[in-house]
Amino acid sequence: MKIIIQTNKIKCDIGKCKNLAKYSVAPDGVSASQYVNLCEDCAENIYSALGRYLVPKSPKNMLAKAVRREKV
Ligand SMILES: [Zn+2]
Repeated sequence: MKIIIQTNKIKCDIGKCKNLAKYSVAPDGVSASQYVNLCEDCAENIYSALGRYLVPKSPKNMLAKAVRREKV
């Protein structure tokens, strides 16, 4: 899964949004017509909405967790 910066004038796919897409979500092995196109606003909204359910597994986070555990 890749995120592509959309340079073509394609509409955002989210609901009734009429903005032009700034990003395209491109799953592996899928043609451009099947990308999910998102404008900046919708991409941010999705990101923050998903953020309530998903925790990024970055090394920084794991390190922070480890430090917290040591202090307890
Ligand atoms: Zn949008």
